[in-house]
Amino acid sequence: MVLDVVNYGHPILREKGADISEITPEIETLIQNMFETMEDYHGIGLAAQQVAQALQLTVIDISAVEDRPSTLKIDGEEADPKSIMPLVLINPELELGGEREEGPEGCLSFPDIYADVERPESVAVKAMDRELKPIEFTAGGLLSRCIQHEVDHLNGVLFIDRMKKGTVKELKPKLSGLASRTREQLRKR
Ligand code: ZN
Repeated sequence: MVLDVVNYGHPILREKGADISEITPEIETLIQNMFETMEDYHGIGLAAQQVAQALQLTVIDISAVEDRPSTLKIDGEEADPKSIMPLVLINPELELGGEREEGPEGCLSFPDIYADVERPESVAVKAMDRELKPIEFTAGGLLSRCIQHEVDHLNGVLFIDRMKKGTVKELKPKLSGLASRTREQLRKR
């Protein structure tokens, strides 16, 4: 089932997600629905907060992206990033590394808003998969950027918080308009 994606201005986007300690049938359904929603919106990542659930859960699939490379290392060995797609990260912990680099980002909760965001190039990930089995790997390139963006969501952090002040200032009219439309919709419910 395709779920509604909440937009900027919805308070749940600022909530830190609760840890998941058990894969209940509800969580299984949520994961399935999040994949269907991400596909429907043509996204490469979706966090639980974006479907109004404050949980430490995100789904990612970068396998359709051809023009922005990703790298993956498992146990120190190079691996094909597509081999771990689609990816479910539960209760993820990140260790950031490498040079900081700028790259373009969008977010399904910010329709039509795109900007460069500076982030560390690589990320070491420790998380649980959809069966709550521990997984560990190191990612670079687009996959690293996507994971950092999604795990920020799980902690109530948004990509506008990572943008340069000048960029946020330029986006201000769009952001204010989006937030007030979102609040208006919430009032009508
Ligand atoms: Zn996002």
